[in-house]
Amino acid sequence: KVRAAGVRKSYGNLEVLKGIDLTVDQGEVLCLIGPSGSGKSTFLRCINHLEAIDSGRLWVGDTTVGYEQRGNKLYELSDKEICRQRTEVGMVFQHFNLFPHMTVLENLMEAPIRVLKQPRRQVRERALGLLAQVGLAEKAGSYPKSLSGGQQQRVAIARALCMQPSLMLFDEPTSALDPELVGDVLAVMRNLAETGMTMIVVTHEIGFARDVADRVAFFDGGQIVEVGPAADVITHPQQQRTREFLAAVR
Ligand code: ATP
Ligand code: MG
Repeated sequence: KVRAAGVRKSYGNLEVLKGIDLTVDQGEVLCLIGPSGSGKSTFLRCINHLEAIDSGRLWVGDTTVGYEQRGNKLYELSDKEICRQRTEVGMVFQHFNLFPHMTVLENLMEAPIRVLKQPRRQVRERALGLLAQVGLAEKAGSYPKSLSGGQQQRVAIARALCMQPSLMLFDEPTSALDPELVGDVLAVMRNLAETGMTMIVVTHEIGFARDVADRVAFFDGGQIVEVGPAADVITHPQQQRTREFLAAVR
């Protein structure tokens, strides 16, 4: 479960998030749509504490992002503690950023072993299971450069899942892919949604949002203009700005 309350974020004079209020329930899939520059990526980065917010509050599960609660007081976390908090959240970007000098299997095993200090054998077993889940069991020993973009993105998803996150964030995971490779990646995400993973997905794939998302939020100018069940927001948008945006992307 994720909650944002009054989240504001500026870069210099530019206010990018102007008070975001949003709740994503456990097991829910929320798609974020909206024009370029509306603050979608910034919002995801704040959830993962890759950016600090200026005011408001964010929660992932029971934890307050960037803080630790002791008694009824909040204490700001150190960088090291922020890294630990971040391990709860998996993130997949447009550019997959796999480790080029490691095999696919090593890519998956790296963080659970080094960051979570889990035993190698246990991590290896989980990693192989996840590669099977994304349809790439036979690529375990391959290097990233020998894979297609779609396969690399599926490895990136499996790598994020290997950390056993409670939340997965996706920032335009298919935008950099050739059109014929998009479907396989979306299918993996659709399956993941069916396992009950909580997911926030920034996407221009309106069809995916309509079919897979429980709810869709339309971002514009650093605000949520409209949020609701996917069928409502995409098929019967209430706001003129949402209608204009949807007409332009379809
Ligand atoms: P897109 O669909 O193009 O990815 P977006 O909705 O993800 O857009 P953001 O990347 O969140 O938009 O950017 C929102 C605004 O904040 C933009 O005007 C952008 O230029 C600005 N911005 C983002 N990151 C920074 C930064 N690190 N420093 C200064 N300005 C930034
Ligand atoms: Mg973006």
